[in-house]
Amino acid sequence: MIQPNPTKVTPFGAVNASVNRAADLLGIKENYRRLLTTCWRETKVSLPITDDKGELRVYEGYRVQHNGVRGPYKGGVRYHPEVDLDEVKSLASLMTWKCAIVNIPFGGAKGGICVDPAKLSERELQALTRRFVNSIKTMIGPYKDIMAPDMGTNPKVMGWMMDAYGQLNGYSPAIVTGKPVTLEGTPDRLDATGLGVAMITRRVMEARKEFLSGKTVVVQGFGNVGSFAALHLHRMSAKVIAVSDVNGTVFDKDGLDVEKLMAYLEAKKTLAGFPHAEFALPGELNALGLECDILVPAALGHVIHAGNVEAVKARYIIEGANGPITPEADDYLNRKGVIIVPDIMANAGGVVGSYFEWCQNIQMHHWERSESKLELDKFMSAALAGVSQAANKYGINYREAAFVVGVDRVYQAAAARGH
Ligand code: GLU
Repeated sequence: MIQPNPTKVTPFGAVNASVNRAADLLGIKENYRRLLTTCWRETKVSLPITDDKGELRVYEGYRVQHNGVRGPYKGGVRYHPEVDLDEVKSLASLMTWKCAIVNIPFGGAKGGICVDPAKLSERELQALTRRFVNSIKTMIGPYKDIMAPDMGTNPKVMGWMMDAYGQLNGYSPAIVTGKPVTLEGTPDRLDATGLGVAMITRRVMEARKEFLSGKTVVVQGFGNVGSFAALHLHRMSAKVIAVSDVNGTVFDKDGLDVEKLMAYLEAKKTLAGFPHAEFALPGELNALGLECDILVPAALGHVIHAGNVEAVKARYIIEGANGPITPEADDYLNRKGVIIVPDIMANAGGVVGSYFEWCQNIQMHHWERSESKLELDKFMSAALAGVSQAANKYGINYREAAFVVGVDRVYQAAAARGH
């Protein structure tokens, strides 16, 4: 039985340990390391709103801009009750490396509000969102800092953000990506992260002369990332044998019809009771420990840790979530020979989709779906090629190599600016 995380590694500390390892290999000097391991700007705002009963409620919000040497800051805004400054810093830093690895002209940022969005009415959530945008209005802009969805936020929230910013600055669709399609969002952004996860999984396996067809997949987390990763892996003929969310795991050893499962969840609001499959509560079974070829953790960070890593049986782990594996667990899995595709490469399809949306917004132009799918595959394949080359050159794993590629590109840009 998998246990909760007993150790306490700070998320920003964990990311910086990887940055420092890459800096060692690249021979980057101490003064530049400081630039790469600190955030450019860390903002904390107090967000008072009036709730539906007319009472005052105050929330805490953050926007952290980690590094902008390669372009405008870019990153999502997370609404979650466990959001804190250290976590937002770690996620902002991951965005810097992610954008560099897929070679899009953005720096890294992240935002968050410490709130459980499920406990707020739609009116309260909208008021909170508008207050947040108003509080950070001088930091953001279509060429300064562009927000996007993350955990607990969605296209609807992005639409409110665009409107709140537009009230102050006029029509500016490029201020935020992942918007509703009716507001110059793109239909492709919605599943871009999950599609990118599936594309990179296929490419990584092909590079090892293995093929996706018939391989067993377990997806932990069935939100935007997990559900579309499962769907596209299923469409690429992998066998998705289990998916889980906070309420439990649905499984079928012969493979789930993910298309139908998504429709079922939409209609019933639960995975439980899906026809011809079994269901277990979180206390009865943990999806992370199931026998499979490919495990896709696609929910919160640090879910695989020293206390439960020995139960993991997958041969491949594709990090749909940001930071799902603690450094200790990562060491253990690497020693065991598990192939780990790190978050900054595996889930970068989301920000690549955002980049496509931003490009269309600033040009007031629309692309075809087929064109953006092809482009996404090109960006993901190019990222893997660069990372594989670094892995071979230094004899290191994908995570170390991804950091080497990202850190090197940011370092080169900083040096070229004369920093
Ligand atoms: N929140 C997503 C991520 O962590 C997407 C960010 C974006 O599209 O800007 O990559």
